[in-house]
Amino acid sequence: MKYVSTRGGLSPTEFSDILLEGLAPDGGLCVPSILPRIDTATLEVWRRLNYAELATEILSLFITDIPKSVIRELCAKSYHSGNFNNKDIVPLKKIDDKITLVGLSEGPTLAFKDMAMQFLGNIFEYVLTERDATLNILGATSGDTGSAAEYALRGKKGVQVFMLSPHGRMSEFQRAQMFSLSDENIYNITVKGVFDDCQDIVKALSNDLEFKEKYHLGAVNSINFGRIAAQVVYYFWAWLRATEDGAQRISITVPSGNFGNILAGHIARQMGLPIKRLVLATNENNVLEEFFRTGIYRPRGSEQTYKTSSPSMDISKASNFERFVYDLMHQDGTKVKALWDQLADQGYFDLSDEKHRFEAEFGFLSGASSHQDRLDTIKSVYEESGLIIDPHTADGVKVARENLHDGVPMLVLETALPLKFADTIQEAIGVKMELPEHLAGLMDLPQYVEVMDNDVEQVRAYLQKNIQR
Ligand SMILES: *Cc1c(COP(=O)(O)O)cnc(C)c1O
Repeated sequence: MKYVSTRGGLSPTEFSDILLEGLAPDGGLCVPSILPRIDTATLEVWRRLNYAELATEILSLFITDIPKSVIRELCAKSYHSGNFNNKDIVPLKKIDDKITLVGLSEGPTLAFKDMAMQFLGNIFEYVLTERDATLNILGATSGDTGSAAEYALRGKKGVQVFMLSPHGRMSEFQRAQMFSLSDENIYNITVKGVFDDCQDIVKALSNDLEFKEKYHLGAVNSINFGRIAAQVVYYFWAWLRATEDGAQRISITVPSGNFGNILAGHIARQMGLPIKRLVLATNENNVLEEFFRTGIYRPRGSEQTYKTSSPSMDISKASNFERFVYDLMHQDGTKVKALWDQLADQGYFDLSDEKHRFEAEFGFLSGASSHQDRLDTIKSVYEESGLIIDPHTADGVKVARENLHDGVPMLVLETALPLKFADTIQEAIGVKMELPEHLAGLMDLPQYVEVMDNDVEQVRAYLQKNIQR
Protein backbone atom coordinates (compact mmCIF):
# COMPACT_ATOMS: atom_id res chain seq x y z
CA MET A 1 0.00 0.00 0.00
CA LYS A 2 1.41 3.35 -1.07
CA TYR A 3 0.13 6.85 -0.35
CA VAL A 4 -0.46 9.76 -2.74
CA SER A 5 -1.67 13.35 -2.31
CA THR A 6 -5.26 14.56 -2.82
CA ARG A 7 -3.79 17.27 -5.05
CA GLY A 8 -1.79 14.92 -7.21
CA GLY A 9 1.71 16.15 -6.30
CA LEU A 10 3.23 13.25 -4.32
CA SER A 11 4.83 10.17 -5.87
CA PRO A 12 3.68 6.97 -4.12
CA THR A 13 5.13 6.94 -0.58
CA GLU A 14 5.32 4.34 2.21
CA PHE A 15 3.19 4.57 5.35
CA SER A 16 6.11 5.16 7.77
CA ASP A 17 7.16 8.21 5.79
CA ILE A 18 3.74 9.85 5.67
CA LEU A 19 3.28 9.02 9.38
CA LEU A 20 5.95 11.49 10.45
CA GLU A 21 5.08 14.24 7.98
CA GLY A 22 2.01 16.49 8.14
CA LEU A 23 0.63 17.78 4.84
CA ALA A 24 1.84 16.43 1.50
CA PRO A 25 4.44 18.75 -0.10
CA ASP A 26 1.81 20.12 -2.55
CA GLY A 27 -0.41 21.22 0.35
CA GLY A 28 -2.81 18.27 -0.08
CA LEU A 29 -3.50 15.36 2.28
CA CYS A 30 -2.08 11.84 2.01
CA VAL A 31 -4.51 9.10 0.96
CA PRO A 32 -4.11 5.40 0.04
CA SER A 33 -3.50 5.07 -3.70
CA ILE A 34 -6.00 2.21 -3.80
CA LEU A 35 -8.25 0.78 -1.08
CA PRO A 36 -8.33 -2.93 -0.21
CA ARG A 37 -11.74 -4.65 -0.70
CA ILE A 38 -13.11 -6.87 2.04
CA ASP A 39 -15.58 -9.61 1.06
CA THR A 40 -18.33 -11.20 3.19
CA ALA A 41 -16.36 -14.40 3.77
CA THR A 42 -13.53 -12.40 5.35
CA LEU A 43 -15.99 -10.48 7.50
CA GLU A 44 -17.33 -13.79 8.82
CA VAL A 45 -13.80 -14.93 9.72
CA TRP A 46 -13.21 -11.60 11.48
CA ARG A 47 -16.31 -12.09 13.66
CA ARG A 48 -14.29 -14.33 15.98
CA LEU A 49 -11.48 -11.83 16.60
CA ASN A 50 -11.07 -9.65 19.66
CA TYR A 51 -10.49 -5.92 19.18
CA ALA A 52 -6.67 -6.05 19.10
CA GLU A 53 -6.74 -8.96 16.62
CA LEU A 54 -9.21 -7.19 14.36
CA ALA A 55 -7.09 -4.02 14.51
CA THR A 56 -4.06 -6.11 13.46
CA GLU A 57 -5.89 -7.47 10.39
CA ILE A 58 -7.17 -4.07 9.27
CA LEU A 59 -4.11 -1.95 10.08
CA SER A 60 -1.77 -4.38 8.31
CA LEU A 61 -3.74 -3.68 5.11
CA PHE A 62 -2.84 0.01 5.43
CA ILE A 63 0.68 -0.42 6.83
CA THR A 64 2.62 -2.71 4.52
CA ASP A 65 6.15 -1.47 5.23
CA ILE A 66 6.14 -2.77 8.84
CA PRO A 67 5.98 -6.54 9.51
CA LYS A 68 2.56 -7.83 10.56
CA SER A 69 4.11 -9.43 13.65
CA VAL A 70 5.16 -5.95 14.80
CA ILE A 71 1.71 -4.51 14.09
CA ARG A 72 0.24 -7.35 16.16
CA GLU A 73 2.47 -6.37 19.11
CA LEU A 74 1.63 -2.68 18.76
CA CYS A 75 -2.12 -3.44 18.65
CA ALA A 76 -1.89 -5.73 21.67
CA LYS A 77 -0.04 -2.98 23.54
CA SER A 78 -2.63 -0.35 22.52
CA TYR A 79 -5.96 -2.16 22.89
CA HIS A 80 -6.08 -4.02 26.21
CA SER A 81 -8.16 -3.67 29.33
CA GLY A 82 -5.37 -1.93 31.24
CA ASN A 83 -5.75 1.01 28.84
CA PHE A 84 -9.49 0.78 28.29
CA ASN A 85 -12.02 0.54 31.04
CA ASN A 86 -14.02 -2.24 29.35
CA LYS A 87 -12.99 -5.77 28.43
CA ASP A 88 -14.53 -5.41 24.92
CA ILE A 89 -12.54 -2.15 24.39
CA VAL A 90 -15.53 -0.87 22.38
CA PRO A 91 -18.85 -1.99 23.96
CA LEU A 92 -22.21 -1.55 22.19
CA LYS A 93 -25.08 -0.19 24.31
CA LYS A 94 -28.73 -0.16 23.19
CA ILE A 95 -30.68 2.99 24.03
CA ASP A 96 -33.96 1.73 22.49
CA ASP A 97 -35.02 -0.85 19.90
CA LYS A 98 -33.82 1.34 17.02
CA ILE A 99 -30.62 3.04 18.21
CA THR A 100 -27.44 1.56 19.68
CA LEU A 101 -24.42 3.50 20.97
CA VAL A 102 -20.90 2.47 19.99
CA GLY A 103 -18.80 3.06 23.12
CA LEU A 104 -15.61 4.67 21.82
CA SER A 105 -14.79 6.54 25.02
CA GLU A 106 -13.51 3.87 27.42
CA GLY A 107 -9.88 4.96 26.99
CA PRO A 108 -7.72 6.94 29.45
CA THR A 109 -9.09 10.40 28.56
CA LEU A 110 -12.76 9.41 28.16
CA ALA A 111 -13.16 10.51 24.53
CA PHE A 112 -12.90 8.69 21.19
CA LYS A 113 -9.57 10.38 20.35
CA ASP A 114 -7.90 7.71 22.52
CA MET A 115 -8.91 4.99 20.03
CA ALA A 116 -6.45 6.23 17.41
CA MET A 117 -4.00 8.08 19.61
CA GLN A 118 -3.10 5.02 21.70
CA PHE A 119 -1.99 3.20 18.55
CA LEU A 120 -0.29 6.30 17.15
CA GLY A 121 1.84 6.64 20.31
CA ASN A 122 3.08 3.06 19.99
CA ILE A 123 3.76 3.19 16.25
CA PHE A 124 5.57 6.54 16.61
CA GLU A 125 7.84 4.98 19.19
CA TYR A 126 8.49 1.96 16.97
CA VAL A 127 9.31 3.98 13.82
CA LEU A 128 11.47 6.49 15.70
CA THR A 129 13.44 3.71 17.43
CA GLU A 130 13.95 1.90 14.09
CA ARG A 131 15.28 5.10 12.52
CA ASP A 132 17.19 6.21 15.60
CA ALA A 133 15.32 9.50 15.30
CA THR A 134 13.58 11.88 17.68
CA LEU A 135 10.41 13.91 17.30
CA ASN A 136 9.09 16.85 19.29
CA ILE A 137 5.34 17.14 19.08
CA LEU A 138 4.16 20.74 19.25
CA GLY A 139 0.40 21.08 19.51
CA ALA A 140 -2.45 23.31 20.58
CA THR A 141 -5.55 21.98 22.29
CA SER A 142 -8.84 23.19 23.67
CA GLY A 143 -9.15 19.95 25.62
CA ASP A 144 -9.66 16.49 24.13
CA THR A 145 -6.86 16.17 21.57
CA GLY A 146 -4.11 17.39 23.87
CA SER A 147 -4.92 15.02 26.69
CA ALA A 148 -5.37 12.04 24.34
CA ALA A 149 -1.95 12.79 22.78
CA GLU A 150 -0.26 13.18 26.15
CA TYR A 151 -1.69 9.96 27.56
CA ALA A 152 -0.63 8.13 24.40
CA LEU A 153 2.91 9.53 24.28
CA ARG A 154 3.83 9.75 27.99
CA GLY A 155 7.03 7.89 28.71
CA LYS A 156 7.58 6.95 25.05
CA LYS A 157 11.17 6.85 23.76
CA GLY A 158 12.24 9.43 21.18
CA VAL A 159 9.20 11.69 21.62
CA GLN A 160 8.68 14.86 23.63
CA VAL A 161 5.31 16.61 23.76
CA PHE A 162 4.84 20.37 24.09
CA MET A 163 1.14 21.15 24.39
CA LEU A 164 -0.25 24.68 24.42
CA SER A 165 -3.68 25.37 25.88
CA PRO A 166 -5.59 28.58 26.64
CA HIS A 167 -4.95 29.69 30.22
CA GLY A 168 -7.99 29.29 32.47
CA ARG A 169 -10.32 28.12 29.69
CA MET A 170 -10.40 24.37 30.04
CA SER A 171 -12.70 22.57 32.44
CA GLU A 172 -11.39 21.67 35.88
CA PHE A 173 -11.46 18.01 34.91
CA GLN A 174 -9.55 18.60 31.66
CA ARG A 175 -6.88 20.59 33.53
CA ALA A 176 -6.47 17.91 36.17
CA GLN A 177 -6.23 15.25 33.47
CA MET A 178 -3.45 16.97 31.51
CA PHE A 179 -1.47 18.87 34.11
CA SER A 180 -1.19 16.02 36.58
CA LEU A 181 1.06 14.05 34.23
CA SER A 182 4.55 14.03 35.71
CA ASP A 183 6.34 12.20 32.88
CA GLU A 184 9.60 13.81 31.85
CA ASN A 185 8.68 13.97 28.16
CA ILE A 186 5.41 15.90 28.70
CA TYR A 187 5.43 19.70 28.82
CA ASN A 188 2.18 21.61 29.44
CA ILE A 189 2.15 25.28 28.60
CA THR A 190 -0.85 27.55 29.11
CA VAL A 191 -0.94 30.72 27.06
CA LYS A 192 -2.72 33.85 28.28
CA GLY A 193 -5.09 33.95 25.34
CA VAL A 194 -7.71 31.83 23.56
CA PHE A 195 -7.36 28.56 21.64
CA ASP A 196 -6.79 30.39 18.34
CA ASP A 197 -3.81 32.21 19.88
CA CYS A 198 -2.26 28.86 20.83
CA GLN A 199 -2.92 27.58 17.33
CA ASP A 200 -1.27 30.69 15.83
CA ILE A 201 1.87 30.15 17.93
CA VAL A 202 2.07 26.52 16.76
CA LYS A 203 1.66 27.65 13.14
CA ALA A 204 4.27 30.40 13.45
CA LEU A 205 6.87 27.97 14.81
CA SER A 206 6.00 25.13 12.40
CA ASN A 207 6.12 27.47 9.41
CA ASP A 208 9.62 28.55 10.39
CA LEU A 209 11.14 25.69 8.40
CA GLU A 210 14.67 26.18 9.65
CA PHE A 211 13.50 26.07 13.28
CA LYS A 212 11.17 23.15 12.56
CA GLU A 213 13.96 21.09 11.08
CA LYS A 214 16.61 21.99 13.64
CA TYR A 215 14.31 21.02 16.52
CA HIS A 216 12.57 18.08 14.80
CA LEU A 217 9.08 19.45 15.29
CA GLY A 218 6.15 17.20 14.43
CA ALA A 219 2.38 17.13 14.87
CA VAL A 220 -0.37 14.72 15.87
CA ASN A 221 -3.33 16.59 14.41
CA SER A 222 -6.28 14.83 12.89
CA ILE A 223 -4.98 14.94 9.31
CA ASN A 224 -2.41 12.27 10.24
CA PHE A 225 -3.47 9.22 8.21
CA GLY A 226 -2.27 6.92 10.99
CA ARG A 227 -5.14 8.24 13.09
CA ILE A 228 -7.68 7.72 10.31
CA ALA A 229 -6.50 4.14 9.67
CA ALA A 230 -6.84 3.26 13.37
CA GLN A 231 -10.37 4.70 13.33
CA VAL A 232 -11.44 2.50 10.41
CA VAL A 233 -11.11 -0.49 12.76
CA TYR A 234 -14.04 0.38 15.01
CA TYR A 235 -16.46 0.71 12.10
CA PHE A 236 -15.74 -2.93 11.26
CA TRP A 237 -15.95 -3.86 14.95
CA ALA A 238 -19.31 -2.09 15.34
CA TRP A 239 -20.73 -3.74 12.21
CA LEU A 240 -19.57 -7.20 13.33
CA ARG A 241 -21.14 -6.76 16.79
CA ALA A 242 -24.37 -5.18 15.53
CA THR A 243 -25.06 -7.85 12.90
CA GLU A 244 -24.59 -10.87 15.14
CA ASP A 245 -28.37 -11.46 15.14
CA GLY A 246 -28.56 -11.60 11.36
CA ALA A 247 -29.08 -7.98 10.31
CA GLN A 248 -27.08 -7.21 7.20
CA ARG A 249 -26.94 -3.49 6.73
CA ILE A 250 -26.71 -0.84 9.37
CA SER A 251 -26.56 2.94 9.32
CA ILE A 252 -24.16 4.98 11.45
CA THR A 253 -24.45 8.54 12.77
CA VAL A 254 -21.26 10.42 13.62
CA PRO A 255 -20.99 13.64 15.70
CA SER A 256 -18.55 15.59 13.53
CA GLY A 257 -16.11 18.49 13.62
CA ASN A 258 -12.93 18.03 11.61
CA PHE A 259 -14.47 15.22 9.50
CA GLY A 260 -11.83 12.75 10.73
CA ASN A 261 -14.12 10.29 12.44
CA ILE A 262 -16.74 10.06 9.69
CA LEU A 263 -14.02 9.93 7.02
CA ALA A 264 -12.88 6.65 8.57
CA GLY A 265 -16.48 5.41 8.20
CA HIS A 266 -16.47 6.47 4.55
CA ILE A 267 -13.25 4.52 4.01
CA ALA A 268 -14.71 1.42 5.71
CA ARG A 269 -17.76 1.68 3.43
CA GLN A 270 -15.57 2.08 0.32
CA MET A 271 -13.72 -1.08 1.43
CA GLY A 272 -17.02 -2.95 1.16
CA LEU A 273 -18.40 -2.85 4.71
CA PRO A 274 -22.22 -2.96 4.30
CA ILE A 275 -23.05 0.46 5.76
CA LYS A 276 -26.34 1.74 4.36
CA ARG A 277 -26.06 5.38 5.41
CA LEU A 278 -23.44 7.57 7.05
CA VAL A 279 -25.24 10.38 8.83
CA LEU A 280 -23.16 13.43 9.68
CA ALA A 281 -24.26 15.40 12.77
CA THR A 282 -23.05 18.90 13.59
CA ASN A 283 -23.89 21.38 16.33
CA GLU A 284 -24.68 25.06 15.62
CA ASN A 285 -21.40 25.20 13.66
CA ASN A 286 -23.05 23.57 10.66
CA VAL A 287 -20.68 24.12 7.72
CA LEU A 288 -20.60 20.39 6.91
CA GLU A 289 -24.35 19.88 7.41
CA GLU A 290 -24.84 22.73 4.94
CA PHE A 291 -22.52 21.12 2.40
CA PHE A 292 -24.35 17.79 2.43
CA ARG A 293 -27.69 19.62 2.20
CA THR A 294 -26.79 22.10 -0.54
CA GLY A 295 -23.51 21.05 -2.19
CA ILE A 296 -21.90 24.37 -1.24
CA TYR A 297 -18.84 24.33 1.00
CA ARG A 298 -18.29 27.64 2.76
CA PRO A 299 -15.90 27.40 5.73
CA ARG A 300 -16.13 30.17 8.32
CA GLY A 301 -13.53 32.17 10.24
CA SER A 302 -12.98 31.86 13.98
CA GLU A 303 -15.06 35.00 14.64
CA GLN A 304 -18.08 33.24 13.07
CA THR A 305 -17.49 30.01 14.97
CA TYR A 306 -19.91 29.77 17.88
CA LYS A 307 -18.86 28.59 21.32
CA THR A 308 -21.34 25.80 22.10
CA SER A 309 -22.09 23.18 24.73
CA SER A 310 -20.58 20.49 22.47
CA PRO A 311 -17.23 22.32 22.27
CA SER A 312 -15.15 19.62 20.56
CA MET A 313 -17.31 20.14 17.46
CA ASP A 314 -16.87 23.94 17.36
CA ILE A 315 -15.04 23.76 14.05
CA SER A 316 -15.85 25.65 10.86
CA LYS A 317 -13.03 24.51 8.61
CA ALA A 318 -12.93 20.72 8.51
CA SER A 319 -9.35 19.70 7.86
CA ASN A 320 -10.13 16.15 6.65
CA PHE A 321 -12.94 17.10 4.29
CA GLU A 322 -10.58 17.32 1.30
CA ARG A 323 -10.12 13.54 1.43
CA PHE A 324 -13.83 12.99 0.82
CA VAL A 325 -13.92 15.58 -1.96
CA TYR A 326 -11.04 13.69 -3.59
CA ASP A 327 -13.28 10.60 -3.87
CA LEU A 328 -16.20 12.72 -5.01
CA MET A 329 -13.96 14.10 -7.81
CA HIS A 330 -13.15 10.53 -8.91
CA GLN A 331 -9.67 10.84 -7.32
CA ASP A 332 -8.60 13.53 -9.75
CA GLY A 333 -5.99 15.64 -7.92
CA THR A 334 -6.12 18.40 -10.53
CA LYS A 335 -9.81 18.97 -9.87
CA VAL A 336 -9.28 18.97 -6.09
CA LYS A 337 -6.49 21.50 -6.42
CA ALA A 338 -8.72 23.72 -8.57
CA LEU A 339 -11.47 23.60 -5.91
CA TRP A 340 -9.08 24.58 -3.10
CA ASP A 341 -7.66 27.39 -5.24
CA GLN A 342 -11.22 28.59 -5.75
CA LEU A 343 -11.79 28.36 -1.99
CA ALA A 344 -8.75 30.57 -1.37
CA ASP A 345 -9.94 33.10 -3.97
CA GLN A 346 -13.66 33.37 -3.30
CA GLY A 347 -14.21 31.70 0.10
CA TYR A 348 -16.42 28.82 -1.09
CA PHE A 349 -16.93 26.22 -3.80
CA ASP A 350 -20.13 24.89 -5.28
CA LEU A 351 -20.60 21.17 -5.97
CA SER A 352 -24.40 21.28 -6.14
CA ASP A 353 -24.21 19.52 -9.54
CA GLU A 354 -22.84 16.47 -7.71
CA LYS A 355 -25.44 16.57 -4.93
CA HIS A 356 -27.41 13.57 -6.22
CA ARG A 357 -24.32 11.39 -5.61
CA PHE A 358 -23.88 12.22 -1.90
CA GLU A 359 -26.47 9.72 -0.73
CA ALA A 360 -26.86 7.52 -3.82
CA GLU A 361 -23.17 6.76 -4.17
CA PHE A 362 -21.68 7.47 -0.73
CA GLY A 363 -24.65 7.03 1.64
CA PHE A 364 -24.19 10.49 3.17
CA LEU A 365 -26.99 12.36 4.96
CA SER A 366 -26.64 15.22 7.45
CA GLY A 367 -28.36 17.14 10.22
CA ALA A 368 -27.64 19.77 12.87
CA SER A 369 -28.42 20.18 16.54
CA SER A 370 -28.78 23.15 18.93
CA HIS A 371 -28.17 23.67 22.65
CA GLN A 372 -31.85 23.05 23.41
CA ASP A 373 -31.89 19.90 21.21
CA ARG A 374 -28.86 18.66 23.12
CA LEU A 375 -30.49 19.17 26.53
CA ASP A 376 -33.79 17.60 25.36
CA THR A 377 -31.98 14.58 23.92
CA ILE A 378 -29.85 13.99 27.03
CA LYS A 379 -33.06 14.14 29.06
CA SER A 380 -35.17 11.87 26.88
CA VAL A 381 -32.43 9.24 26.55
CA TYR A 382 -31.96 9.32 30.33
CA GLU A 383 -35.68 8.95 30.98
CA GLU A 384 -36.16 6.17 28.43
CA SER A 385 -33.04 4.09 29.04
CA GLY A 386 -31.36 5.31 32.23
CA LEU A 387 -28.18 6.02 30.22
CA ILE A 388 -26.48 9.40 30.49
CA ILE A 389 -24.95 10.54 27.21
CA ASP A 390 -22.51 13.39 26.68
CA PRO A 391 -23.46 16.55 24.71
CA HIS A 392 -21.60 15.52 21.52
CA THR A 393 -23.18 12.08 21.49
CA ALA A 394 -26.53 13.81 22.10
CA ASP A 395 -26.06 15.81 18.89
CA GLY A 396 -25.58 12.44 17.17
CA VAL A 397 -28.68 10.85 18.73
CA LYS A 398 -30.81 13.88 17.85
CA VAL A 399 -29.82 13.71 14.18
CA ALA A 400 -29.98 9.88 14.13
CA ARG A 401 -33.62 9.98 15.28
CA GLU A 402 -34.47 12.15 12.27
CA ASN A 403 -32.84 9.66 9.91
CA LEU A 404 -34.33 6.28 10.81
CA HIS A 405 -35.39 4.75 7.52
CA ASP A 406 -36.82 1.38 6.42
CA GLY A 407 -36.08 -0.39 9.71
CA VAL A 408 -32.31 -0.32 9.17
CA PRO A 409 -30.62 -0.51 12.62
CA MET A 410 -28.91 2.75 13.56
CA LEU A 411 -25.64 3.06 15.46
CA VAL A 412 -24.47 6.34 16.99
CA LEU A 413 -20.80 6.79 17.84
CA GLU A 414 -20.34 7.81 21.48
CA THR A 415 -17.51 10.33 21.13
CA ALA A 416 -17.06 11.21 24.82
CA LEU A 417 -18.30 10.24 28.28
CA PRO A 418 -20.69 12.64 30.07
CA LEU A 419 -18.31 13.06 33.02
CA LYS A 420 -16.15 15.34 30.86
CA PHE A 421 -19.04 17.77 30.44
CA ALA A 422 -20.69 17.61 33.84
CA ASP A 423 -22.14 21.16 33.73
CA THR A 424 -24.29 20.47 30.68
CA ILE A 425 -25.45 17.16 32.15
CA GLN A 426 -26.52 18.95 35.31
CA GLU A 427 -28.36 21.55 33.22
CA ALA A 428 -30.16 18.83 31.25
CA ILE A 429 -31.20 16.37 33.95
CA GLY A 430 -30.14 17.89 37.26
CA VAL A 431 -27.75 15.04 37.99
CA LYS A 432 -24.33 15.81 39.42
CA MET A 433 -21.77 13.42 37.88
CA GLU A 434 -19.36 11.72 40.29
CA LEU A 435 -15.84 10.61 39.37
CA PRO A 436 -15.68 6.83 38.86
CA GLU A 437 -13.50 4.82 41.19
CA HIS A 438 -10.52 4.51 38.83
CA LEU A 439 -10.33 8.32 38.54
CA ALA A 440 -10.99 9.26 42.15
CA GLY A 441 -8.00 11.22 43.41
CA LEU A 442 -7.23 12.81 40.03
CA MET A 443 -8.38 16.23 41.19
CA ASP A 444 -6.03 16.16 44.19
CA LEU A 445 -2.81 15.37 42.30
CA PRO A 446 -0.14 18.08 41.96
CA GLN A 447 -0.23 19.88 38.60
CA TYR A 448 2.72 20.72 36.36
CA VAL A 449 2.20 23.61 33.97
CA GLU A 450 4.13 26.60 32.66
CA VAL A 451 2.13 29.84 32.21
CA MET A 452 3.21 32.13 29.35
CA ASP A 453 2.20 35.34 27.63
CA ASN A 454 0.63 35.17 24.21
CA ASP A 455 4.06 35.52 22.65
CA VAL A 456 5.72 33.30 20.05
CA GLU A 457 9.23 34.21 21.22
CA GLN A 458 8.56 33.12 24.78
CA VAL A 459 7.41 29.70 23.55
CA ARG A 460 10.33 29.45 21.12
CA ALA A 461 12.83 30.12 23.92
CA TYR A 462 11.17 27.48 26.09
CA LEU A 463 11.44 24.87 23.33
CA GLN A 464 15.10 25.75 22.71
CA LYS A 465 15.84 25.31 26.39
CA ASN A 466 14.01 22.00 26.81
CA ILE A 467 14.57 20.10 23.58
CA GLN A 468 17.56 17.79 23.82
CA ARG A 469 19.31 17.83 20.48
C1 LIG B 1 -12.91 15.45 18.24
C2 LIG B 1 -14.30 15.24 18.71
C3 LIG B 1 -15.40 15.22 17.81
C4 LIG B 1 -15.25 15.53 16.33
O1 LIG B 1 -14.56 14.53 15.63
P1 LIG B 1 -13.92 14.83 14.19
O2 LIG B 1 -13.08 13.66 13.88
O3 LIG B 1 -13.10 16.09 14.37
O4 LIG B 1 -15.05 15.04 13.24
C5 LIG B 1 -16.66 14.94 18.31
N1 LIG B 1 -16.85 14.72 19.63
C6 LIG B 1 -15.83 14.74 20.53
C7 LIG B 1 -16.12 14.48 21.96
C8 LIG B 1 -14.51 14.98 20.10
O5 LIG B 1 -13.51 15.01 21.00
